[in-house]
Amino acid sequence: MVIGNWKMNKTPSEAVELIRELRALLGDKTEGVVVCPPFVCIPAVRETLAGSGIGLGAQNMYWEEKGAYTGEISPLMLKELGVGYVIIGHSERRQHFGETDEMVHKKVQTAYRFGLLPIICVGETLEQREKGETKDLLIRQTRAALEGLDAEQAKGLVMAYEPIWAIGTGKTASPEQANDAAGVIRGVIGEMFRAEAGKSAVIVYGGSINSGNAREIFAMPNINGGLPGGASLKPDEFAKIVNALYI
Ligand code: PEP
Repeated sequence: MVIGNWKMNKTPSEAVELIRELRALLGDKTEGVVVCPPFVCIPAVRETLAGSGIGLGAQNMYWEEKGAYTGEISPLMLKELGVGYVIIGHSERRQHFGETDEMVHKKVQTAYRFGLLPIICVGETLEQREKGETKDLLIRQTRAALEGLDAEQAKGLVMAYEPIWAIGTGKTASPEQANDAAGVIRGVIGEMFRAEAGKSAVIVYGGSINSGNAREIFAMPNINGGLPGGASLKPDEFAKIVNALYI
């Protein structure tokens, strides 16, 4: 999969333009491609994506269906807009908006309850990596996010390994670092559910992916694609990253 996280970028009209360009560049190479625009762009993006085969995702959601939660967006709202995927636990949500493992857990549960496929993000800070804590952190975050899912849900898991020190910094994890981290995540999934679920999970890498480094990262055995942020805002770059998946 290649999942574009637009973050807080693009107005609805700019979003339409981006999708038009992207469709022209991708042609029919759209399998496994998902775009995650800001909430307010979702209706326009959905309309512009019609018939393209490109999936539509949100960048976040709350865990309640409705109620007095000013400023939040519910899974019910996303479903009605035709959203199929939702990024959960992105490090920017954890860092800037205080999302905890417990909140990520609730959101993952909710996503499955409403038929949305969560794209669950885990990853360490530079300090944690330097202290040798990466493995333990990945195990803890993955366990907390997946606790309580059943074997059926675990079959189609989509996880993103996103080292925080590589997001938006221009620094990329080496293919080996990304592969090792994805291997840890697969191990946890295998232990919690069945070995088969660990093997079949889709694990993408995110952290300054671009057209120059995507191919060697995607070639690693534990990695099944990417979650570009900045590069997803440039149709040409994003299309090249998708192409790297196909070669
Ligand atoms: C992201 O948004 O998850 C991300 C990895 O961003 P960037 O590609 O800009 O580092």
